[in-house]
Amino acid sequence: MLRKIAPDIPEDFEGLDQFIEDLFDTMHASDGVGLAAPQVGRSLRIFVVDTTPMAENNDDEPELKDFRKVFINPYIIEEWGDSWAFEEGCLSLPNLREEVSRPKKVRIEYYDENWVLHEEEYDGIRARVIQHEYDHLDGKLFTDKVNPIKRKLLAPRLKAISRGRVDCDYKIIYPKK
Ligand SMILES: [Zn+2]
Repeated sequence: MLRKIAPDIPEDFEGLDQFIEDLFDTMHASDGVGLAAPQVGRSLRIFVVDTTPMAENNDDEPELKDFRKVFINPYIIEEWGDSWAFEEGCLSLPNLREEVSRPKKVRIEYYDENWVLHEEEYDGIRARVIQHEYDHLDGKLFTDKVNPIKRKLLAPRLKAISRGRVDCDYKIIYPKK
């Protein structure tokens, strides 16, 4: 599921409001700041973010507080600016954290929960969270973006996760368990 490209959601999709609520609940219950539908086993082009918990330790980016949003059928139009490294983690890959380089700015088009189309620009950590979650809709994981040597070192740990040999305090469906 995490490797599939997620298709667009039709506007008459049944149960979308409930699904959005479930995504927020699941994300908050596992202390995440972003969650994409493929991470809960649904191949759908939607993710949610809430970076409010990150605002407490970050005086430089007060806009992290209350950055709580749903992105339906999002498409990144442009990424630009100097690439910068930031340590990322992922609810689907428990206990793994690695530095990933990504462009600083992003322009994204998406529908909100009322099917209103938006086009917005983000930078800093908000861009980072969007880029990470967006990758999930295209079947990509942050571990694909770490440098090749580190990726080799990560391979056995990824294999262990896929077999369920990992400590994690929220529920996960493991592909090979
Ligand atoms: Zn992730």
